[in-house]
Amino acid sequence: MSCKAGQRHHPIRIRQPRLTEDLPGCGRPAYPLDVCLDPPDLAAWRNPASGIPGVQIFDSGLRGPDLVIVGMVHGNEYAGGHALEILRRSNPVPLTGRLTLLLANLEAFDRFDQAAPMNSRYLTEDLNRLWHPSRLQSDEHSRELDRAREILPFIERADLLLDLHSTLWPSDPVFIVPPRRRSSDFACILASEEHPAALVLTDLGHHGGSRLIEHPRFMAIGGTGRACLLEAGLHWQPETVDMMVKISEHFLKDAMRIHFQGRGTDTKQPAEMAVVTDNVMARSGDFRFVEPWVGNTCIPNAGTVIARDGHDLICTPYDKCLLIVPNLRPRQGQLAVRLARRTAVHLNS
Ligand SMILES: [Zn+2]
Repeated sequence: MSCKAGQRHHPIRIRQPRLTEDLPGCGRPAYPLDVCLDPPDLAAWRNPASGIPGVQIFDSGLRGPDLVIVGMVHGNEYAGGHALEILRRSNPVPLTGRLTLLLANLEAFDRFDQAAPMNSRYLTEDLNRLWHPSRLQSDEHSRELDRAREILPFIERADLLLDLHSTLWPSDPVFIVPPRRRSSDFACILASEEHPAALVLTDLGHHGGSRLIEHPRFMAIGGTGRACLLEAGLHWQPETVDMMVKISEHFLKDAMRIHFQGRGTDTKQPAEMAVVTDNVMARSGDFRFVEPWVGNTCIPNAGTVIARDGHDLICTPYDKCLLIVPNLRPRQGQLAVRLARRTAVHLNS
């Protein structure tokens, strides 16, 4: 990373004790709970040949990379269920190696209720915060922790893993990678297939625990496993399924070359890379953005007010600041937005 990456021109949070006038802005918009996509029919995933619900294996019988595509780590993000069902029906046996399609939280999905679509994200705890050995190897039990242990063998053997997610609030597609060069190279190849190229983001981890892409298989220094997470679009929209299927097909097309040479078939354009510099948490229950920012919006100037949190103004700390998946209605203590800076330089490998 260049020394410029650390430069800041403006504090993020400014206390305004006498701030009384309203800022222009979007206030706290209602949750976008339009469900424009029916839940998928996942009958074929209940008792598959693998013996483990939600796990479908396509084995070439020839030596080669172990590819894994994961969907529905969050039970209500069932665009991933549609995408993996479409892939399953295409009988995607790779030329060499093995492909595993994995629907991670079927039990939470089964609780989906269109009248309360946010409630089936998980049953007892977030399945995407459990992937540190201190949790996986602990004596604790929860529905998600037990499920994580059940599907762990497929994660531990993955050479390339694509984890499909969707978002509640609007955002351009974004790939999120652990801070390892091998994974950012992998994501950049997939991102460069998009026009314009999708953003590839290295972030600060998640404060609530380790995500699937941060399992040691993908984090070990000198290891070989590569992983990326795709935020493909809004939760319950057909376009999100289309994006997931398209990226999965690129993944299957490019997998051999990524695995053996670290590059895809034709890298058409350089991907856009960024590093998260700050997680902005909502300290008050009255966090309001001044505009309904769409994720990946670039704010040109340092010091631009983007939100108000109680009596605090929230400002961009540097020029060309990217707003990553803004949560337009955060609760007190929740992550409101991540701030990121574009970079052309890889982190450590
Ligand atoms: Zn998710």
